[in-house]
Amino acid sequence: MPGLYVHIPFCIRKCDYCAFYSEVSADRNRQQRFFQSLEKELGSLPANFVPETVFIGGGTPTAPDFQALEKFFPMFVKFSPLEFSVEVNPGTVDVAKLSLLKRIGVNRLSIGVQSFESRCLETLGRIHSAEQADEAFRRARAAGFDNISIDLMFGIPGQTMQALDADLDRALAFGPEHISIYNLMYEEGTPLLERNPVRLDEEMEREMYDHIRERLKEAGFEHYEISNFAKPGFECRHNLLYWTGGEYIGCGPAAHSHWNGTRWANAADLDDYCVYGPRREFEETLDPVAKERETLVMGLRLINGVDVDPTLFKKLQCTFQSLENEGLLEIDGCRVRLSEDALFVSDAVFAELI
Ligand code: SF4
Repeated sequence: MPGLYVHIPFCIRKCDYCAFYSEVSADRNRQQRFFQSLEKELGSLPANFVPETVFIGGGTPTAPDFQALEKFFPMFVKFSPLEFSVEVNPGTVDVAKLSLLKRIGVNRLSIGVQSFESRCLETLGRIHSAEQADEAFRRARAAGFDNISIDLMFGIPGQTMQALDADLDRALAFGPEHISIYNLMYEEGTPLLERNPVRLDEEMEREMYDHIRERLKEAGFEHYEISNFAKPGFECRHNLLYWTGGEYIGCGPAAHSHWNGTRWANAADLDDYCVYGPRREFEETLDPVAKERETLVMGLRLINGVDVDPTLFKKLQCTFQSLENEGLLEIDGCRVRLSEDALFVSDAVFAELI
């Protein structure tokens, strides 16, 4: 069953590390034009597209004010998916917005905390405080959400192992069902990269990653994807679609899709989107061989690994063998998975397989 991704391209302020497509705008007319275009795009989805999961991300889906969300978010009700996730920034949610999300059928929240340490939040340029993150989680529980993910980061300049541990303590104290924790990336064109801060060395980042895995495992989380941990039964179904080569359609500017053997991306241009609706700036029909390799690499993100088609397995046997000899890959028949040592350097392994 496919998934629907919706990109809401507004933020209150750009975070210093962010390379996602979004703009800082509180202009109600502009937001209204965007939502009207989005409604049209959703209305033109293929008749046989019945999403099992809906994921509203961005940007900051909760950046528009309550009146705008109340007016436009009911457009998603018709999908009534099994899993309906919304990304929430702690600086932009209050009781009214959370109750609204609950009313329209949202059953999973992903709260972007990143860190509970004010110095780290400042380094990242986040708009919220640790107290607001606490408040957002408590309010979400009070609103009845029983499937909440907390997003954290590690490898932040100046972050110590103690600070990371304190972040994990605080996140675990809430009892979330899911935790995503990403190693900070230094993206081209971001203020963070331009500032050229003193980065943590790789050894330290690896220690942090190992520590995170150990602590979350002890706390009863299953490590199911390189950066994702879930209590049993709370894996993110929508993201599992991406990692297992599933189909999805993305709506909104800059959203990507993979449907019926075709992959495309909407233009990252809000002006254009508001006036003309979605315009594909990229489209390709998937070559089955390239698709198999891509499915392999995405599947390797999963801790349990992936079954490889026997023909592809034969083609890649030498590479698999040498990765296994280096201790980076584990092979069991036609099933391959990253070794524990390879999880932190997965990109280097993937580069060998593409
Ligand atoms: S809130 Fe999210 S999308 Fe917006 S700038 Fe920050 S990281 Fe980027």
